[in-house]
Amino acid sequence: MSNHNPSPSPSQSQSQGQGQGQVQQAIPRAIQQTIPIVQLEPGGGKIHFREQKGDFQRLRTRLNSLLVCLFLFIPFLNYQGHQAILFDIVQQQFFFFGISLWPQDFTLLAWVFIIAAFALFFVTVFWGRVWCGYLCPQTAWTFMFSWIENRIVGNSNNRKALDKAPWSLAKFRKRLAKHSLWGLMALLTGCGFIGYFIPARELYVDIFSFSAGFWVTSWVWFFALCTYLNAGWMREMMCLHCCPYARFQSVMFDANTKTVTYDAARGEARGPRKRKQETQLGDCVDCNLCVDVCPTGIDIRNGLQYECINCGACVDACNQTMEKFGYPLNLISYASENQLKGQKHVIWRSPRFLGYGAAVLIMLIILGLDMRSRSEIQLNVIRDRQSLYRETLDEMIENSYRLKIRNKTQQDREYQLQLGGNPQYRLLADARLLIHAGEQLDYPITVQAPSAALDTSRQTIDFIVTDMDMDANGQAPSVSQSSSFFSH
Ligand code: SF4
Ligand code: SF4
Repeated sequence: MSNHNPSPSPSQSQSQGQGQGQVQQAIPRAIQQTIPIVQLEPGGGKIHFREQKGDFQRLRTRLNSLLVCLFLFIPFLNYQGHQAILFDIVQQQFFFFGISLWPQDFTLLAWVFIIAAFALFFVTVFWGRVWCGYLCPQTAWTFMFSWIENRIVGNSNNRKALDKAPWSLAKFRKRLAKHSLWGLMALLTGCGFIGYFIPARELYVDIFSFSAGFWVTSWVWFFALCTYLNAGWMREMMCLHCCPYARFQSVMFDANTKTVTYDAARGEARGPRKRKQETQLGDCVDCNLCVDVCPTGIDIRNGLQYECINCGACVDACNQTMEKFGYPLNLISYASENQLKGQKHVIWRSPRFLGYGAAVLIMLIILGLDMRSRSEIQLNVIRDRQSLYRETLDEMIENSYRLKIRNKTQQDREYQLQLGGNPQYRLLADARLLIHAGEQLDYPITVQAPSAALDTSRQTIDFIVTDMDMDANGQAPSVSQSSSFFSH
């Protein structure tokens, strides 16, 4: 016989009748927000959350570590002799693995950001704030700084004790070590961030040899200071008071959205007990571990709260307790409102899920088409405004133009300039052009045609610029632009 109240599974809880009211009361509809409950340490001080081990924390740690490593090492990646990802502010170019984007191409970047936003909404409908718990830089850096603090000062009790302890040499040494390591991580983060805007290899050398210019140094230290304050001091305050996503994410929730949820029907009435003790209480032994490990200091047993970042620490903590007491796992779990009511979890029928999914798909197709139609050569033809045309002694008509040709690749390229529209057009300029990587050639030219070959006073003339190198498909990329050729 079980030594505790039979614990209805989510599917059982409704059929048993008991607890359904509790579920409704303790876990309101996902779109309803409970009154914000921010449980700071007694006295309103800093939250010293406990370090927790478990499946979700292992996953979070690995994802966070991967994120931090990628963030720091991507600026060192080279591709075709250039930094693979670089927003070059000076040259007003964005380099992305061999693709150069110019300010006029920034609609592509806008598409990427819009798609990323809708992909986030799509994931939120399904998994709630899983982005916040597992991938958000604020969470990753906060946990990293907290990990450093744990190694130097000790667990949450040691940290609280050190806060209260009077100043001594030992306290000073621990504080100095902690803040030095935080400062170093913050400085690396500042360099990492600025390394996306100016060449990273030179940046690190310049910063650590104190030879960087004033503005570069200022920006690096500014972002280092922001990191130090955010991850070291502000922590959950950023999520609670500054992050807009925390405020509007509930709009995307529906009854099928999985969020970290306490199964009140199973857990209540909560209360302490000894292991293997017979009791009429619910499964929650009131060990308070779920609160101790929470980085935002909330008690998930009070229902869904906007402060919850879905990090899963309380799930791991509670499962640890459940294991100790021999109770079924997942008293706190990632569950939807429908699952807790014992109803079927059918995310596919959610209009929001389908809507955001369709929007992401459509925008990805548009982005793909936009990328395919993008040319690596930019051509702009401007007619000479000084004179409409000139007539020469040998009965030739001349028109002048100014061509602006930009090589948008990251290599020097040779181009062939051709004319189209009338086979009698003759170019009075060199037709072979060498343009250096990323540069624009301003090329004034004159085009001539025999007067007898022009049967109207205004004819179309096409300027065709062809890259002399074949692309990956064996085709020579080219662009063309039409203009007018005037005569009498
Ligand atoms: S309630 Fe649980 S999932 Fe939410 S922030 Fe706290 S520990 Fe993380
Ligand atoms: S960790 Fe689980 S058992 Fe402990 S107080 Fe929280 S919900 Fe109750």
